[in-house]
Amino acid sequence: MNVPFVDLRAQLDEIGGEIRAAVNEVIERGDFILGRDVQAFEEEFAAYCGVRHCIGVGNGLDALRLTLQALGIRRGDEVITAASTFIATAQGILQAGAVPVLVDCDPESYNLDPRRLSSAITSRTKAIMPVHLYGQPADMDEIRMIAEEHGVPVIEDAAQAHGAMYKGNRCGAMGVAGCFSFYPAKNLGAMGDGGAIVTDDDALATKLFKMRNYGSQVKYRHEVEGCNSRLDTIQAAVLRVKLPRLDRWNQLRAEAARRYEELLAEREIVTPKCKPDRTHVYHVYATRMPDRDAALEALSAAGVSAGIHYPKPVHGHTSMRGRVRAAGPLPYAETLAREELSLPMFPHITPEQIDAVARVLTRHSVPMAAMRS
Ligand SMILES: *Cc1c(COP(=O)(O)O)cnc(C)c1O
Repeated sequence: MNVPFVDLRAQLDEIGGEIRAAVNEVIERGDFILGRDVQAFEEEFAAYCGVRHCIGVGNGLDALRLTLQALGIRRGDEVITAASTFIATAQGILQAGAVPVLVDCDPESYNLDPRRLSSAITSRTKAIMPVHLYGQPADMDEIRMIAEEHGVPVIEDAAQAHGAMYKGNRCGAMGVAGCFSFYPAKNLGAMGDGGAIVTDDDALATKLFKMRNYGSQVKYRHEVEGCNSRLDTIQAAVLRVKLPRLDRWNQLRAEAARRYEELLAEREIVTPKCKPDRTHVYHVYATRMPDRDAALEALSAAGVSAGIHYPKPVHGHTSMRGRVRAAGPLPYAETLAREELSLPMFPHITPEQIDAVARVLTRHSVPMAAMRS
């Protein structure tokens, strides 16, 4: 059985009619730039996250960069982040002129390990940017406590965690600002590029509303330096159709995760672990196994598309050489890059598809009992 890594077709079957109607309305109105749907989506997504403001921008990378710039981060500053993340996190920091300082991940959650955070802080640290990796909320209480002690803001990279909850709070709503991407395959995805920043800080929001649009909120009045990074009206219209379904789609992802968990228990495969005070939204179903590359090949031969997130930690990329600083040894980030295997995961994945994936893996892997002997 062929199992794609992500299949958006079933999603389209569910909402295609509504999306076409919404896009058609934009075309008829012609308000393609900062149109009615952008403002409506910004209000709806802010309410969904439980914050006062949402600023729609062109993509997730710009959301990160603009937020750092709006907070006054400059050349020579340091921003602490996770060594295990998509490259955009580090690139956003670099584009703001700062140096990414990398902290190792927790071996169970794969998120920035708060026990290694204090020792990474220097006099140049101007922000801490945890990532809710794979859709699992980072240890926000511990991170925020250390940040407060040192008087530095926390900016969340929530690009993989739309809708995830931590102790009753949405991911993105716990720092000074939360940054989202609406890349099509994200849990809340547009039909092209898109991004957003959510915040409760009125002054920060006002600044970002200007910065994303040439530094201007009132036509031809340019008060701050800006750029052109606006959420497209057509993408906002698509996102408005999808947002009311996000929680249910996240639940379907969680059900798929439970099925994987049952089928893969007792094998030498490490499945995702999530603490009871938070909800994982499984943007990526990340497993770990010693012979990851062989498993990937076996899956591929059986028609299953799996993935690796990510083949290298941030500091392993040639583009990052000499531009990032490791806060200390990063053994868990390196192990994760060697052993991680992402299994097919999307809301409409069927039990039969999950069973097919698990069958290949259980045939391929060694039972736990055999490992111990
Ligand atoms: C997807 C992603 C981004 C960047 O989003 P784009 O919209 O592709 O620019 C940033 N951080 C993380 C963790 C991501 O997964």
